[in-house]
Amino acid sequence: MSTVVSLPVNNDVRASFDRLAARVPQVSQSTAEQRIARIRRLMAATLAARPRIYEAVKAERGLSPPDVDGELVMLKMEAEHIEQNLADWMSDKSAPPSLMTLGKKCYLHYEAKGMVLVLPSWNAPYVIGFLPVLGALAAGNVVIVKPSELAPQSSRVMAEIVKEAFPDGEVTIIEGGVEAATALLACPFHHIFYIGNNTVGRIVMRAAAEHFASVTLEMGGKNPSIVDASADVEDAALKTSWGRMCNAGQACIAPDYVFAHESVFQRYVDALVREITAMYNPRGEGFDKNPEYPRVINARHFERIKALVEDARAKGAKIVMGGEFRAEDRYIAPTVVTNTTPDMKIMQEEIFGPVIVVMPYRDREEVVSYVRKHDKPLASYVFSKDRESWEFFLKNTTSGSMVLNHNVVQSGTNPYLPFGGVNHSGIGRLVGFNTFAECSNARTVFEEGPKVVDPRTMFPPLTD
Ligand code: NAD
Repeated sequence: MSTVVSLPVNNDVRASFDRLAARVPQVSQSTAEQRIARIRRLMAATLAARPRIYEAVKAERGLSPPDVDGELVMLKMEAEHIEQNLADWMSDKSAPPSLMTLGKKCYLHYEAKGMVLVLPSWNAPYVIGFLPVLGALAAGNVVIVKPSELAPQSSRVMAEIVKEAFPDGEVTIIEGGVEAATALLACPFHHIFYIGNNTVGRIVMRAAAEHFASVTLEMGGKNPSIVDASADVEDAALKTSWGRMCNAGQACIAPDYVFAHESVFQRYVDALVREITAMYNPRGEGFDKNPEYPRVINARHFERIKALVEDARAKGAKIVMGGEFRAEDRYIAPTVVTNTTPDMKIMQEEIFGPVIVVMPYRDREEVVSYVRKHDKPLASYVFSKDRESWEFFLKNTTSGSMVLNHNVVQSGTNPYLPFGGVNHSGIGRLVGFNTFAECSNARTVFEEGPKVVDPRTMFPPLTD
């Protein structure tokens, strides 16, 4: 896999920033129709590039077209939602009157923040990269995107798409790696969208502080899934097999570990193995022979995931399924791990690969106390038929999102459902109105009304 070489150095990055900044006054005044036209151009160029997109993601992660279409459908749904709602979002929002403001006009006026930077990750590059762009355009901003260097073919295709849609550079792609990201972060953007791990999230937030840029940080972590004693075990195993193994586990909201009640633990593990096999090795020829089974993005991530499993194995974990690694094509067999202990790295770091840990539990308080002791997750899942049990987990834990009796489906299925994390897993919300709001300034406007009382009665000297 080649690395992206068209790396602009600092001066070029700053020049691109300045060129775009000069357009802010004009673009921020654009009408809903003009903004929708920009969104349509981006969508048309993206959909027209489908053959190039398929080729890129096949080379990068071994994904097949239907998986990639899922990404494009999410983008299309978002674009259509914006089209239907933008005029309403842009309209001023009146504040209800108070005694002190009777006769005055008080409202919120949404205006563009101005310059928006998008630093997306590589694991679903088109939706992760372009979804914030759609919202930023809807809000009347100009945008620079630096796609992830970990998916260089997709980075190149994204650059081509943007060039086709915006020959005038209103949206600009700057390709490159950490050096390009660092140079961009030195520029005085007004809002930054960052999607990636939280180590870099900290770097982004610190850099943003230099210019008091607002940030939307979409990060990851370890997402728990809980299967209680009342759960439909087969259903839980089926859905978790898909939730964890699609995109070879390289999804921020994929379940990372499962707590299964001790009364259903073994049945659940057996069902998980069965369902993963039925899904990704249906003819028994081997997971690696299935053209639909994806690969890990690069050698670094391959070695990282392998090290997590090897460390667990060495410390006494049981590899119930999988545990096979082939560096040459970055193949990792779907892997199920049990008998883990807290000292294992697999219990401390986000796995972000086709590996899942299953642990038995006896008391639900045990689960709650474990989850609460760790960073607040991006997503959590509960499989249960018991309403009281679901509500117990809902009330006693926190996460960016929580799902009952399914997983992963809270993203990309409903433009009214905001997406985001909490503290370590994220700051801010994406999707629909939320993205628009993140890169808008909701300006407070107060218009004085007709003169009813002499304003002097309100001002000093008050004793008169
Ligand atoms: P990545 O390595 O591609 O990084 C994302 C961006 O940060 C890239 O543009 C990269 O160039 C830039 N970057 C990397 N190091 C940098 C540095 N030192 N300084 C400045 N910029 C730098 O992505 P990743 O971190 O490998 O992505 C995987 C992570 O992203 C996982 O933790 C996953 O959970 C998370 N993720 C979250 C979401 C979400 O919506 N919450 C979505 C996808 C992925």
